[in-house]
Amino acid sequence: MTYPDYQADLGYLEQFRDDGDENVQLLEPLLAFRLSRAYRASRRLRDLLRIESAGRTRDAQQYLYDGYKRGDAGFNLAANPDRIIGSRGGFTFRGSWHMAQEDSYVYACDLTHHGALSWDDAHDDLRASGLHETVPNEPWHHQSTTIRGPLAGPFPDGTNTEDEMTPELEEKLEGLATWVFNGTTMILKRIDELEQQLATTKGDDE
Ligand SMILES: [Zn+2]
Repeated sequence: MTYPDYQADLGYLEQFRDDGDENVQLLEPLLAFRLSRAYRASRRLRDLLRIESAGRTRDAQQYLYDGYKRGDAGFNLAANPDRIIGSRGGFTFRGSWHMAQEDSYVYACDLTHHGALSWDDAHDDLRASGLHETVPNEPWHHQSTTIRGPLAGPFPDGTNTEDEMTPELEEKLEGLATWVFNGTTMILKRIDELEQQLATTKGDDE
């Protein structure tokens, strides 16, 4: 679903391309909206954060994949454009998050930072506008939407799901609860062990 300033936002984002050849025109509306918002809200992002990889067409993905499969020089690991990432509400995501999907949009962008900006600081500013890291160990990779739908953050109509429970957030909290439970169980077990050790030591003394 697009919004009135979509084209204007795409134009605004062009100035933040790292090399100038990144295709920001393919960015899906929510991603374009949130990325524009993040840049407008943060001087340090405008100064030091650049868009390194935005979108590629399905044909470009096929070209990269073919080159990778043949082992051609200069080709890196690239996803098969036909690979199914997942489905939601009759919509199937295929290939790569950086590849234009059946609705012609790309759902991810890779960012790069220059100078003194750290990923921690960049992420603070980006998350405030609903841009989330969705791939472990890829701090540069950002999305506003996943298979589960839009991630928490602002929307063009002025709403903001920041404080609402999203499936993504719910999953994170479940993970956290499991982690706390396991941690507590481990600590209780250790206390038991120490108690037994103490009892044994006492026994030795007596
Ligand atoms: Zn990426």
